[in-house]
Amino acid sequence: MCGIVGYIGSRPAYEILIKGLHRLEYRGYDSAGVAMLTDDGRLNIYKSHGKVADLENFCNAQDLDGCAGIAHTRWATHGEPNDINAHPHLSRSGRIALVHNGTIENYTVLKEALEQQGYEFKSETDTEVLVQLIEYVMLTNGCQLVDAVREALHQVIGAYAIAVVDTQEPDTIVAARKSSPLVIGVGDGETFLASDATPIVEYTDKVVYLNDGEIAIITRGKPLKIITADNESAEIDIQTLKMSVSQLEKGGFPHFMLKEIFEQPRTIRDCVRGRIGNSGSRVTLSGVIEHADVFRRAKRIIIVACGTSWHAGLIGKRLIEEYARIPVVVEYASEFRYSNPIVTPDDVVIAISQSGETADTLAAIKLAKERGAFVYGVCNVVGSSIARATDSGTYIHVGPEIGVASTKAFTGQVTVLTMFALAVGQVRDTLDREVAAKVVCSIRKLPELIKQTLKLNDKIEKLSDTYTYVHNFLYLGRGYNFPSALEGALKLKEISYIHAEGYPAAEMKHGPIALIDHELPTVVIAPKDDLHEKIISNIQQVKARGGSVIAVVTKGDTTIAEIADHIIEIPDVPESISPVIVSIPLQLLAYHIAVKKGCNVDMPRNLAKSVTVE
Ligand code: GLU
Repeated sequence: MCGIVGYIGSRPAYEILIKGLHRLEYRGYDSAGVAMLTDDGRLNIYKSHGKVADLENFCNAQDLDGCAGIAHTRWATHGEPNDINAHPHLSRSGRIALVHNGTIENYTVLKEALEQQGYEFKSETDTEVLVQLIEYVMLTNGCQLVDAVREALHQVIGAYAIAVVDTQEPDTIVAARKSSPLVIGVGDGETFLASDATPIVEYTDKVVYLNDGEIAIITRGKPLKIITADNESAEIDIQTLKMSVSQLEKGGFPHFMLKEIFEQPRTIRDCVRGRIGNSGSRVTLSGVIEHADVFRRAKRIIIVACGTSWHAGLIGKRLIEEYARIPVVVEYASEFRYSNPIVTPDDVVIAISQSGETADTLAAIKLAKERGAFVYGVCNVVGSSIARATDSGTYIHVGPEIGVASTKAFTGQVTVLTMFALAVGQVRDTLDREVAAKVVCSIRKLPELIKQTLKLNDKIEKLSDTYTYVHNFLYLGRGYNFPSALEGALKLKEISYIHAEGYPAAEMKHGPIALIDHELPTVVIAPKDDLHEKIISNIQQVKARGGSVIAVVTKGDTTIAEIADHIIEIPDVPESISPVIVSIPLQLLAYHIAVKKGCNVDMPRNLAKSVTVE
């Protein structure tokens, strides 16, 4: 979490830095700050708690000179979100400023050592330790900024992406990364750096993804130089960005979240393109085809993920077990990495992450690889750390997702996992041809089916009036749609702050049924499937106890229409495809309730999108 931006060139840095921070605000919005370096070596630093807009207000009356600078939007890990803890942090003499994304795990040891040398600390952050350490090394060794950074980083345990400037070298920014992302944009006589490519895209499409352990030396008027931690020169692999500025704007919608919900017919079309033809039942996933032997031999699949991606993983488990007949376990990456898991070379590990930067998932991948497993990635962000750390994989190709609550990435992940299950089923010859043809045909129709489902928007908006001020919600689903219940509940709680729980419908009688009264609405996901009769009984049980029921049903389901308080009708689709369609009304319900409550749906409190810290 945290976003960092840097610029050096001939334009005023402030505009570029602020615009970049707005783009990265999804990564954290506890505080923001900028440091601009003028040609004559003056350093202007402005910081403010709150959002980037608060920083802009503060900066209005300030000296914004300088064609080089670094900036930061924070998701606090060490120290509360206030002005003092905001980045950039300054060294004791005031000559070095630094922004940091990540956590320095051994910061207390380093801090004590520096305190013994007479250093005093203004903030509670781990980051300030790093900037003081760099200055200490610089003064002790009498070296320049880059050597001081390199030496200091040898003493650091933890995760970081940093950008550092020194008033004595006003033409240079030094940047480095380990476990937190950093992209460098190579322009004409100017260079950009950022936590992802979104602040860079309107200035250049030439980017370099810094590798773990590398240090970039960005000097005005000189070519980019990258070195390793051992001071060897590293290769510079310039890639071309495939991203457009319009993808990063709201396009007339009041919120990114709503825009992203409505984009889903197109994003699913992009996700499926080239993988499923206009006819026939074949699925072409190059990541599977190129490693057909691995999938033929695989004895087990372990899915590792966090949050919404973990819910997609639960749906993936059912799909893979059904179509590819391989046993699947789904693990929270954060638990897996610390559990001494049994992983063997017969296992395939699937890592799912929208950003491709999720720290726990990255650590899980490293562990799985050490134990000999083949690792397959399902990511959105092209060139991300997970995409590069995995042996093979499939991008979901849904375009940048800016709303902190995931919507289009979730449906993209489930669609990719559906195609993956079918592709592995083809390779292992476990697929029933007729079933495969039916599912592939439905995947082909998904964009159109989502479009029809989005017509529910007005109805759901009205429905949300009834439920704006409730305090708790229950979401029930069975089979493929039990994970949909978990995801629906997560969506509601993360953006509306209403407590919500997802449960397998039949489990309700083992506990949650005690909660039901007229104040607890229950969303029941009940499309026509093999368990339809059973879920009708579950609805009756809720109604018998005075609870109100919002049922998501297949169009024309008159039985449930008679017993539920409200019905949301979705198109008729095969059970295994239904989670994608079901998620649309659940996203809309959470969205409208949150908007009516006056919540900031794109930047919900305490959250950040890309969880690059443990
Ligand atoms: N650890 C730093 C802080 O608390 C950076 C946090 C982050 O990257 O999320 O300020």
